Amino acid sequence: MAPNDVRTCSRCGTAFHLPRKRRGTPYAQFCSQACITAHKVDLAQLHSSQLEEGFAERLREAGLAFVEQYALGPYVVDLAFPQVRLLVEVDGEAYHASSSAQARDDRKDALAASEGWQVIRVPQFMIEHHPEEAVRTVVEAYLHGR
Ligand SMILES: [Zn+2]
Repeated sequence: MAPNDVRTCSRCGTAFHLPRKRRGTPYAQFCSQACITAHKVDLAQLHSSQLEEGFAERLREAGLAFVEQYALGPYVVDLAFPQVRLLVEVDGEAYHASSSAQARDDRKDALAASEGWQVIRVPQFMIEHHPEEAVRTVVEAYLHGR
C-alpha cells in the first residue's frame, strides 16, 4: 500500500486506508460511514440555523417582536411571542422525523398547552421555498392571539 493511501479522517482524526471506490468522492476525507453521517448532520444543522435566522429577520421586518430560543421548562422553543402567548417552532425534516424527536415535541407541546401557549409549527421547506407564506402563517397566528 502506498503511503498516500493512508489518510487522516478530518472528523475524528483516525488514520485510515481510503477504499478505492471512495477515491475522488466528496467524502474521501472521512474514515467511516459514521463520520460521513455525522458530517452530513452538521451541515443540515448549520443550514437549518441559517434558515431560521433568515426567517427571524423577515418576521422582524414584518413588525413582530419576539424572543428567540425561548426557554420553556426543560425545553427550548425557536421563537416566542409572550405578548400573545404564541410559540413558533421551525420543523426541520431530518431532526423531527425520528420518533424520539416526535415524542419530545409532543411533551413540549403538552407543557406549552398547560401553560396557555398556542404552538404552531412552520416546516423548514415552507421557509425555504415559500417564505412569504411562512411569514403570513406566523402573522396570522399572532393577530389571532392578540
Ligand atoms: Zn472518522
